[in-house]
Amino acid sequence: MTQQQVNVSALADGVAAGDRRSLARAITLVESTRADHRAAAEELLERLMPSTGKSIRVGISGVPGVGKSSFIESFGEQVTGKGHKLAVLAVDPSSKRSGGSILGDKTRMEALSRNRSAFIRPSPAGATLGGVARRTREAMLVCEAAGFDVILVETVGVGQSETAVAEMTDMFLLLLLPGGGDELQGLKKGIVELADMILVNKADGDLIDTAKRSVAEYTSALRMLRPASPNWNVPVLSCSARTGDGIEEAWQKIEAFREALGGSGEIARRRSAQALDWLWTEVGEGLIAALKAHPAIVADLPDVERKVADGALPPTIAARRLIGLFARS
Ligand code: GDP
Repeated sequence: MTQQQVNVSALADGVAAGDRRSLARAITLVESTRADHRAAAEELLERLMPSTGKSIRVGISGVPGVGKSSFIESFGEQVTGKGHKLAVLAVDPSSKRSGGSILGDKTRMEALSRNRSAFIRPSPAGATLGGVARRTREAMLVCEAAGFDVILVETVGVGQSETAVAEMTDMFLLLLLPGGGDELQGLKKGIVELADMILVNKADGDLIDTAKRSVAEYTSALRMLRPASPNWNVPVLSCSARTGDGIEEAWQKIEAFREALGGSGEIARRRSAQALDWLWTEVGEGLIAALKAHPAIVADLPDVERKVADGALPPTIAARRLIGLFARS
C-alpha cells in the first residue's frame, strides 16, 4: 500500500458498508508503522469514529491449552447464530505474522474463519505490548465501524497482556481448567481480580465432577475479593467448548453484564476513563520519542545516562534537566 494507493474516503465507505476486503485493508493500514500510512490511518479513523462504540467489547484469557480457541469457535457459532456479527482480535506481543503463537495458526478456529458473520484477525506483530495494544484498539474501532457488534479480544494468559486487554474492553473473561483449588493461588492474583466472569472449561466426560468442584471453590475464593463493581457479582460457570454445554449461559451472562453496567452508565464511564488513559499514554510516548530525537538532548543524553547509571546523578534531577532542555528549545 503506497500513499497514492490509499484512497481513504473509498476505504471508509467500504468499511462502513461492511465489505470484508476493505475491513482487512483498513486494519492493515492502522497496523502499519510507516509515517505516510499513519497519516492515512488517522484520517480513516477520524472518518469512522462516529460509527464506532456500539459493540460489546469482551476480553478473554487463559493459559495455553485451556481451550480459548475452541471456546471462541463454539461461542462464535452461538452468537452469530443469533444474528450477531463477531470480530475476534488478539493481543500477543510475542507473535510473528508468519506462524504466530496465537490465532496465526490456520488450523485454529477453522469453522469460524469460514463463517460470514465472523471476522478473525491475528495479533499484530510488534515487539512492545504498547504498540500491539494500540493497533488492536484501533482495529477494534474499525471492526465496530464495519458493523461488528460483538468484539472478542483474546490474549495468552501470561504476563501483562491481560491488563492491556482489560484496559480496552468492557468485560474480561477468564477461562480456567478443572482442577484443585491450588490453581487459583497459582494464577497471578491480579489476573483473577481483572475477571468479570470465570469459566471453568472442559466440563465434559471424566472432568464434569472436577469442574463442578472447581466452580464451587472458585466461587468461594472470589468472595474474599472486593467486587470491582457494585452492580455486578462475578459469576463462575462451567462450560465445555467441546460439547457446547454452558456456552449459551456464558453469552446470557455477557448480555446481563451489558444490561447491568450499561444501564447504570458504568460501561460508558469505563470507556471514557480508558480513552483518557489511552490519550495520556500516547502523549507520553509521543513526547518521549520527540525528546529523545531532539538535537539538544541527543548531544547530552549519553553523558546524562552514564552519570545516572553510575549513581553520580539522581534520576529525578537528570529527568528534570532533560525536560528543561527540551522545553526551552
Ligand atoms: P488454547 O491454547 O487455549 O487456544 O486451547 P485450544 O482451544 O487449542 O484447546 C487445547 C486442547 O484442549 C485441544 O486439544 C482441545 O481439543 C482441547 N479442548 C478445548 N476445549 C475443550 C473442552 O471443552 N473439553 C475437552 N475435553 N477438551 C477441550
